[in-house]
Amino acid sequence: MGLVVQKYGGSSVADAEGIKRVAKRIVEAKKNGHQVVVVVSAMGDTTDELIDLAEQVSPMPSGREFDMLLTAGERISMALLAMAIKNLGHSAQSFTGSQAGVITDSVHNKARIIDVTPGRIRTALDEGNIAIVAGFQGVSQDKKDITTLGRGGSDTTAVALAAALDAEVCEIYTDVDGVFTADPRVVKKARKIDWIAFEDMLELAASGSKVLLHRCVEYARRYNIPIHVRSSFSGLQGTWVSSEPLVQKTQQQGDKPVEQAIISGVAHDTSEAKVTVVGVPDKPGEAAAIFRTISDAEINIDMIVQNVSAASTGLTDISFTLPKAEGRKAIDALEKNKSGIGFDSLRYDDQIGKISLVGAGMKTNPGVTADFFKALADAGVNIELISTSEIRISVVTRADDVNEAVRAVHTAFGLDSDSDEAVVYGGTGR
Ligand code: ASP
Ligand code: MG
Repeated sequence: MGLVVQKYGGSSVADAEGIKRVAKRIVEAKKNGHQVVVVVSAMGDTTDELIDLAEQVSPMPSGREFDMLLTAGERISMALLAMAIKNLGHSAQSFTGSQAGVITDSVHNKARIIDVTPGRIRTALDEGNIAIVAGFQGVSQDKKDITTLGRGGSDTTAVALAAALDAEVCEIYTDVDGVFTADPRVVKKARKIDWIAFEDMLELAASGSKVLLHRCVEYARRYNIPIHVRSSFSGLQGTWVSSEPLVQKTQQQGDKPVEQAIISGVAHDTSEAKVTVVGVPDKPGEAAAIFRTISDAEINIDMIVQNVSAASTGLTDISFTLPKAEGRKAIDALEKNKSGIGFDSLRYDDQIGKISLVGAGMKTNPGVTADFFKALADAGVNIELISTSEIRISVVTRADDVNEAVRAVHTAFGLDSDSDEAVVYGGTGR
């Protein structure tokens, strides 16, 4: 039996009962003969509470102190979990990200892992311990300051450790039974996916599916670490995310690979806003000037559309979407460069939502796009922007239409389950 990395999210360790329940599960894995490394998030909504506290004492806390504060959340849960495991008669040791050898760059609040040197974890395992590691944190290579990896970063810690320790699998325990064909909080008839390829999972994550973070899936694909997303509340098999199809044992045919679905799922995102630059001269260099301004402000954009100019005016409009949190910054940067770029006015709209259909089967099934638009039309949903990749179609609609649109598309593509409703065991989904 090999080494497994298990990650438990905040809702799985929300209180003392949760910690004891998780401890039992960890001990089971150990008893089954595995070496076990556990990555743990802060209890419940601790991280949000710490952020609120920081904002009460300072409107603009320094990145360094902010990270120092937030990493305390994971230190609480790791120590409590180690105690709970010891109470069950097994030996466990907890480690901060720094002690576990998670080395990052020095960008506070969203550091990237650049190396993992898990010497102390190896030693702890070789001595028969269960190793518990605080998620979402590391230490910067140059300044040796404590860093955090950005919200939800514990998943990335888990995958990075799994890669560095050459684990068999990285199990991500959460408050739903796996990856669903849509957010089970919105679509009651969402179906659990048994296996999904890294590519499809990356598109779902980039399109707003919150069950796994994009960065974590990217890391897993780069090092080819299979992820098993499952619930810590039920004993069920969850969703395997990997490059190779999962093989299922069937009585009649023996080993049978799980087929890749044509459509993997429907994702939605209401965290973006739309900026329209009105009255842009239709001549070379205009788009370059607009998006240079945006990128100089370090803002990442998502979709872009531009119309052909009306012949009489020679002017056109350019719209793009970006995270709502960056909206103010983008408007300010464009206003400042108004004369340099040359446009009439700016419009800002944060009442938008994005719906995306994802599936590798799109490449070979030409009807998918038409069916997608038909489903939206039948639901009376107006489309404002469209963008596509090889395996994804996304549209922007009114924010109010999003839930209805997701359900309509889910039904139209035959994704509704006819059995049990998807269960959400806990947490707020944030
Ligand atoms: N506790 C951190 C957060 O809430 C990290 C995580 O949960 O993965 O964002
Ligand atoms: Mg959390």
